[in-house]
Amino acid sequence: MADAAETSIKVVCRFRPLNSAEVARGDKYIVKFQGDDCVVIAGKPYYFDRVFQSSTTQVQFYNTVAQKIVRDVLDGYNGTIFTYGQTSSGKTHTMEGNLHDPDMMGIIPRIVQDIFNYIYSMDENLEFHIKVSYFEIYLEKIKDLLDVSKTNLSVHEDKNRVPYVKGCTERFVCSPEEVMDAIDEGKNSRHVAFTNMNEHSSRSHSIFLINIKQENSQTEQKLSGKLYLVDLAGSEKVGKTGAEGTVLDEAKMINKSLSALGNVISALAEGSTYVPYRDSKMTRILQDSLGGNCRTTMVICCSPSSFNDAETRSTLLFGQRAKTVKNNVSLNVELTAEQWKKKWEKEKDKNKTLKNTVTWLEAELNRWRNGEHVPVEERFDKEKASAEVQALDGAPGDKPAPKPELSGLPGVTLTPVDQGKYGEEMSKLYKELDDKDEEINQQSQMVEQLKQQMLDQEELLNSSRRDHDTLQKELNRLLAENEASKEEVKEVLQALEELAVNYDQKSQEVEDKTRQFEALSEELNEKSSSLASIDSELQKLKEMTNHQKKRVTEMMSSLLKDLAEIGLAVGSNDIKQDGSGLIDEDFTAARLYISKMKSEVKTLVKRSKGLEAAQADGSRRLDDTQRELTACQLRISQFEAKIKSLTENVQNAEQKKRQLEENLDSLNEEIVRIRAQERVNTMEKDSEIQSANEVKEAVEKQILSHREAHQKQISSLRDELDNKEKAITELQDLNQKVVLEQETLRLEHEKLRAAEQEKSRQLQELTAMQDRREQARQDLKGLEETVARELQTLHSLRRLFVQDLATRVKKNSQLDSDEADGSAAQKRKICFLESNLEELTKVHKQLVRDNADLRCEIPKLEKRLRATAERVKALETALKEAKENAARDRKRYQQEVDRIKDAAIKPKNMGRRGSAQIAKPIRPGQLPGAPISLGVNRSNLIQNNQH
Ligand code: ADP
Ligand code: MG
Repeated sequence: MADAAETSIKVVCRFRPLNSAEVARGDKYIVKFQGDDCVVIAGKPYYFDRVFQSSTTQVQFYNTVAQKIVRDVLDGYNGTIFTYGQTSSGKTHTMEGNLHDPDMMGIIPRIVQDIFNYIYSMDENLEFHIKVSYFEIYLEKIKDLLDVSKTNLSVHEDKNRVPYVKGCTERFVCSPEEVMDAIDEGKNSRHVAFTNMNEHSSRSHSIFLINIKQENSQTEQKLSGKLYLVDLAGSEKVGKTGAEGTVLDEAKMINKSLSALGNVISALAEGSTYVPYRDSKMTRILQDSLGGNCRTTMVICCSPSSFNDAETRSTLLFGQRAKTVKNNVSLNVELTAEQWKKKWEKEKDKNKTLKNTVTWLEAELNRWRNGEHVPVEERFDKEKASAEVQALDGAPGDKPAPKPELSGLPGVTLTPVDQGKYGEEMSKLYKELDDKDEEINQQSQMVEQLKQQMLDQEELLNSSRRDHDTLQKELNRLLAENEASKEEVKEVLQALEELAVNYDQKSQEVEDKTRQFEALSEELNEKSSSLASIDSELQKLKEMTNHQKKRVTEMMSSLLKDLAEIGLAVGSNDIKQDGSGLIDEDFTAARLYISKMKSEVKTLVKRSKGLEAAQADGSRRLDDTQRELTACQLRISQFEAKIKSLTENVQNAEQKKRQLEENLDSLNEEIVRIRAQERVNTMEKDSEIQSANEVKEAVEKQILSHREAHQKQISSLRDELDNKEKAITELQDLNQKVVLEQETLRLEHEKLRAAEQEKSRQLQELTAMQDRREQARQDLKGLEETVARELQTLHSLRRLFVQDLATRVKKNSQLDSDEADGSAAQKRKICFLESNLEELTKVHKQLVRDNADLRCEIPKLEKRLRATAERVKALETALKEAKENAARDRKRYQQEVDRIKDAAIKPKNMGRRGSAQIAKPIRPGQLPGAPISLGVNRSNLIQNNQH
């Protein structure tokens, strides 16, 4: 290390202009400037190395104060620039300014720019290593602004016992831009960490360190320089900036570094040997800058406002004190081997002299102890010894070990041995302290990490809370849904219950219906039984017809028998005897029979026609009776209407009667009054006027009360009458409605009856048709049979005839001539018979065809019959139902009518009966609406009411 030179701290003072708030408040500009180095406040001058007025620009200030320091640092000296002053006095403005504005930028950006500019202009052989660090001290904690995780760094001493911030980020930079980036980063991390940046910056010290090492590659000369750029916390008392809410300890901590700085500066100013650098971290770090190996400039920033008068003055005083501090500045140079050797030689010589001195002094001491007197010339000569030492030691400014600190402790006198011992002890303790600091640092880093983890956890917690919230919401929603569905279920259950009730009703109805159905089926049974009876009748009729047919067949058979006899007669000798005359007779007889048969058949047909006509007649008669029934119904309804009108008449009569009764009442009253008057008159006549008057009065009162009661009664009766009338009209309405209903039902009934008639008519027709058909079939069968039989007989006849003819021909061959006439007659007969036969066969064929056709039609007709029968049945049941309903409705209607009649008649009767009993109960002190109760006998009143 190079020789040290003692230099004072340079103190400059800078006043900012009045700010807008101060101007607005009307603060006075209390500062006066005298020359370059004096500022006068309230007549008191303060001297500094330089005083800058408010109008000083950033460039001017930089050029005057800070530019030189760049050269110093690059020449291997340490440098420090402090800004001191109260909050908003312009410290940051001076130190940083507007970092990226060429006009408004403060010292730091300009220094950075200048350092690089200077380096670029220097010797090519020089090699520079530039490192920057940026940290702040807040509440006695060193926070690395280039690495936010380092929040509580410790201060250690290097091998030259120079303190440094251990573990602080040192960023190597090669350009001003990189430096500015680092500063921006640091400022940014400060802004992120603290929400209230103004408050924070006024309570923290920010330190920007530029460390420059250079080596001359030719000479191997190594130089190093450190530049501290310190923006101190506000110098005011914490109270003034409004540190409300800050606990006292914190306030103390905030001010600790600054008060320690004040103490250090005071100690240095007083020349005290003990300087309390270790009182705060800041003074510890800046130990070299204060009374050490450093060219230090302190910028005292002040406000010119009258408002900040006191603060400004104390700031100025602090600056003046700082001005007296002396530093021992030396070049930070690393010695080469040659230089070290020379230095060693020197030290060896010095050591020898000192040893000489020691032996000299020891000898003298021994002589003195032995009681010898040492003459002045033989005594140890301090001057001589020091001169010897001076001569040997060329560099007296070498920084001594921190031992002198101890000797400086007040009131302590220590022997050199003790001093050595305590010195060692202290350095050991300091070491321990530093170690502890380091431990603290590590712990705090761990704390920081934990904090980070905690934040992460909190984040996680928040997210999970959010999740929880959403889940809760979901749950709530689900619960609500559940509730809603419960409600729905309830509703459904209700609906089900309703359905069950409905079902019950329906089942009830079904039961009713089944009952009805049973009744209907019973009726059906009845009907079917009647049908069976009709069937039996039909059977009888059929039997009868059968009987007729039998008779016909009998007749036919007899006829045929006769025919056979005729045939026989024709075949026998009679033919021979009577010849054609007999046959003719027979034939005529047969014809007669046939015509007889025909007439018989005709009569039968006529009879059946007659029967049909009788049936039609019966149905007609039924129709007539039906018509009569409807007429009767109509008449009934007419009668009902008449009844209605009559009841109305009765009501009217009743009303009239009521009116008459009322009239009677009023007349009665009048009579009573007149009688009373009479009595009064008679009393007057008896000249008992006073008593009479009293009586009159009493009577009048009585009458009055009587009348009132009567009126009340009448009004109540009228009210009742009105009510009754209303009820009557309502009932009449109801009656009307019921009548209408009945009318509609009647119409329906009629319609149904007409339908029934139609159906029954159809049924009758059909049955008649069937009967006819049946009959026709039967007839046809009989006819067929008879025809067949006739045919057979004809065949036999023919055969007989042929045989006979053959025999006759044989005979005639014998009797030729006389038999010619007979054969002609026979031939005619045969022709006649043959033609008859042919006709009969034709008729037979026709009949057979007709029969076949009819047979074909039978199934169709049967089917139709069945369908119609079914329809008839259905219609019958419907009719029955309708009839029943109608009957029921009529019954109901009748009941209703009866009820209404009863209801209409009863109240009338009741009203009539109760007319004498309606008087409301009268109780003491409760005469409703009767203000006159002047000593009237109440029982009397009631009696009157009852009249
Ligand atoms: P401090 O850091 O001491 O609390 P600042 O440097 O932040 O104060 O200054 C407070 C305000 O005053 C800032 O807005 C700054 O721009 C302004 N100011 C300070 N000094 C000056 C000056 N010399 N000229 C112009 N404005 C200034
Ligand atoms: Mg500031």
